[in-house]
Amino acid sequence: MEREVRVRFAPSPTGPLHIGGVRTALYNYLLARKLGGKMLLRIEDTDQNRFVPGAEQYIMDSLRWCGIEIDEGIEQGGPHAPYRQSERKPMYRQYADQLIKDGYAYYAFDTPEELDAMRARLTAAKVPNPQYNSITRAQMRNSLTLPEEEVKQLLDAGAPYVIRLKVPRKEEVRFNDLIRGWVVVHSSSIDDKVLMKSDGMPTYHLANIVDDHLMEITHVIRGEEWLPSAPLHVLLYRYLGWESTMPQFAHLPLLLKPDGTGKLSKRDGDKLGFPVFPLEFHGKDAETGEPTVSSGYRESGYLPEAFINFLAFLGWNPGTTQEIFS
Ligand code: GLU
Repeated sequence: MEREVRVRFAPSPTGPLHIGGVRTALYNYLLARKLGGKMLLRIEDTDQNRFVPGAEQYIMDSLRWCGIEIDEGIEQGGPHAPYRQSERKPMYRQYADQLIKDGYAYYAFDTPEELDAMRARLTAAKVPNPQYNSITRAQMRNSLTLPEEEVKQLLDAGAPYVIRLKVPRKEEVRFNDLIRGWVVVHSSSIDDKVLMKSDGMPTYHLANIVDDHLMEITHVIRGEEWLPSAPLHVLLYRYLGWESTMPQFAHLPLLLKPDGTGKLSKRDGDKLGFPVFPLEFHGKDAETGEPTVSSGYRESGYLPEAFINFLAFLGWNPGTTQEIFS
């Protein structure tokens, strides 16, 4: 049976929505509208250290100003209150437990000092990219190396632990990205990433996959900075038994600095005299803590229609001379 197209925009409320984020949201929105599907908003707030109060509202206001209509996960006085990952914690735990039970994840009890020592050892041995993986895990304190009885004692005593994904040593992980084509990665280059943190919060990787599955997402359209995470996500879909409904991936090229050396930042915008935020943003100076105001497209007098038209053309062309679209 054909599935209804469902896409999502999943920002982390770590600051104001940036022009690059709006572009990702726009491409999701356009695909949903083109294919008669739905677009939902999901607030990915599992990293409480980076949480910025007011960011969630800023994101919603910005999307509204841009005319990007959200069908689910936004307050409209209707039944669809925002989806916030911090409010869905017990659900993620259940899937982490399932992965452990099925042998695809494990408890790791290593202290920050032990992890630092491991990295220092690997760096000294000139290992190019030190990570916790199928080789290093053998020397660490986790439920794959410790006797079962000791693991039980540690858990009963409330010792701090994280849950890590058990990435296989030798396997090809592949998926067909709608923009990149086939992406093939050897599993030895994938870290045994943490899925649950010691504070009981899931990491981005676990929460993102569980939610995309439960929310029946058919297409994951996001910035290219997430391309390296996608092979890990493919493994998670497989281990959770969800491979047959895995969404299609499309990793969008990023908006770059004018010289192409990296992601476009607020500073680049300031230098060139254009805003990078849709709406005015009231922030704080990182060093002095003094209040700062960054201008937005709205306050600079740009029409939302012009802003969106311009964004649609960054990375796409209809192949004609038409330049103005609704
Ligand atoms: N929370 C992630 C972000 O802010 C979402 C990445 C994704 O779409 O999977 O970019």
